[in-house]
Amino acid sequence: MSASQPKVGFVSLGCPKALVDSERILTQLRVEGYDIVPSYDAADLVVVNTCGFIESAVAESLEAIGEALAENGKVIVTGCLGKRPEQIREAHPDVLAITGPQDYASVMAAVHQALPPKHDPFLDLVPDYGLKLTPRHYAYLKISEGCNHRCSFCIIPSMRGDLVSRPVDEVLREAERLVRGGVRELLVISQDTSAYGVDLKYSERSWRERRYQTRLKALCEGLAELGVWVRLHYVYPYPHVDEVIPLMAEGRLLPYLDIPLQHASPRILKLMKRPGAVDRTLERIRRWREICPELTIRSTFIVGFPGETGQEFEELLAFLGEAQLDRVGAFAYSPVEGAAANALPDPVPEQVKQERLARFMARQAEISAARLEAKVGSVQRCLVDAIDGELAIARSMADAPEIDGLVQIQDGAAAGLKPGDFCDVRIMGSDEHDLFGLVGDPDDGD
Ligand code: SF4
Repeated sequence: MSASQPKVGFVSLGCPKALVDSERILTQLRVEGYDIVPSYDAADLVVVNTCGFIESAVAESLEAIGEALAENGKVIVTGCLGKRPEQIREAHPDVLAITGPQDYASVMAAVHQALPPKHDPFLDLVPDYGLKLTPRHYAYLKISEGCNHRCSFCIIPSMRGDLVSRPVDEVLREAERLVRGGVRELLVISQDTSAYGVDLKYSERSWRERRYQTRLKALCEGLAELGVWVRLHYVYPYPHVDEVIPLMAEGRLLPYLDIPLQHASPRILKLMKRPGAVDRTLERIRRWREICPELTIRSTFIVGFPGETGQEFEELLAFLGEAQLDRVGAFAYSPVEGAAANALPDPVPEQVKQERLARFMARQAEISAARLEAKVGSVQRCLVDAIDGELAIARSMADAPEIDGLVQIQDGAAAGLKPGDFCDVRIMGSDEHDLFGLVGDPDDGD
């Protein structure tokens, strides 16, 4: 990197969706000749990509802005919290500019104004798949923005607006570039992956001389052509999700669904403004597993939603027992400024919420542990993320990065594995989150 290039520091907070925005901005900065530097000291200015989803994320974002101002002094704020500029200005009146999520042009305009770019012919060497914050072998693929639902606990639609899908050919071309750049796993994300294309009336586009609808199933069929792992996140529990399960059974798509269910009591789901047919959800899960027995299901739930009775919480625990989900994340409900749920009566006392959360997590921990234990003795296809001493740290098809468990390959370094390698691992042990195994013959060696 040239010493004379303008230098930008970058702080990326929030969810994988925000990470994708950060990657886009970083790519654009690099293309225009900015050096990306890892410290406040070395930077001429700092861009902070914020999150505004829940109160703790808002606090973390405001803290990060304060730190960047104290350490560097020149700060541009973007991301979800940028939708609430008054709140940022109140805490930090000295920020140079504030822009909202996906507003790449405004971020770049603010950077240009504070720190004009310099032309450098060598910048053409930037690869066309862009620069990624995630390891080179996996990448998030954002297929749409915004959401048409109005879940009462969520303010994303008010911050990001209604669903806007990217045309299928554009997404497939981006995926193709990523794979050409060395990506081995694509993580499909959006606010609501099942709704993909509805705003574009599922319009047809061409890619590799074939017509594809802008629709989840067709997108998955296209992505399957790329020969890498494809994992679906944030799938809303709609009936047409059934369409992608056969692709999983055929091995064209990872047998993995991240499907936030949020609760199992029909009354609470109604208060949440979410689909409430719990029996049908259980029936659907049963059918999916019949078609694709190795399917991994991850979900998230909220406990202690306003008005949740002891009985309704018990219904949720009973659902966990029946659904036998593989991976579950849970939150105790906390009000988000501006969310409709704040107006609901009968808030659950904090202590009760925390007790319920602990019971919920304990129940699910038993289920997750048993489901992992059932894999001991099997051979799992894995993708290596890192080498740590003797170990290779990998993930099986059942593990999404950052949120699920790992497979620790005890003889990974000795076997010469590298990040980005696929391998078959014999599973020798398990705990609540992770699996342990070997790539070599367990009877060989010492
Ligand atoms: S589906 Fe519900 S929780 Fe998810 S982004 Fe849309 S409104 Fe928010």
